[in-house]
Amino acid sequence: MNIDSIRNGIVIDHIQAKKGMEIYKALELGKLDCSVAIITNAKSKKMGRKDIIKIDKSIDLDMDILGYIDPNITINIIEDDKRVAKYHVELPKEIVNIIKCKNPRCITSVENELQHIFVLTDKDKKSYRCKYCETLKED
Ligand code: ZN
Repeated sequence: MNIDSIRNGIVIDHIQAKKGMEIYKALELGKLDCSVAIITNAKSKKMGRKDIIKIDKSIDLDMDILGYIDPNITINIIEDDKRVAKYHVELPKEIVNIIKCKNPRCITSVENELQHIFVLTDKDKKSYRCKYCETLKED
């Protein structure tokens, strides 16, 4: 795989420096059967330093996970060496089964089949509260 270009696949760009590995793990990219390249600390005019992930295959990405980890990233879809689409992610209004509520009295710690749902309550502070008990997500 050429590090500089991919013929068909996805480039996740403008990742906050050092967050590439977190995204790699969260999206379980290690389970793919294609090449995946993580470039860390790439120079960026806009950001100073950034991480980039290149996936040598078209796959469905979980935009909620991406937006939750880093709402500033951009996704480029590459076909035949050309960028055919570019997406911006945003903070998801609701995140399901990505984090768990820490409150021991929360119904989700008793009812195992319940989904873990957190709702965005403050976009600027990136704060999420448990949908059931309103406990604030801890960082
Ligand atoms: Zn809760």
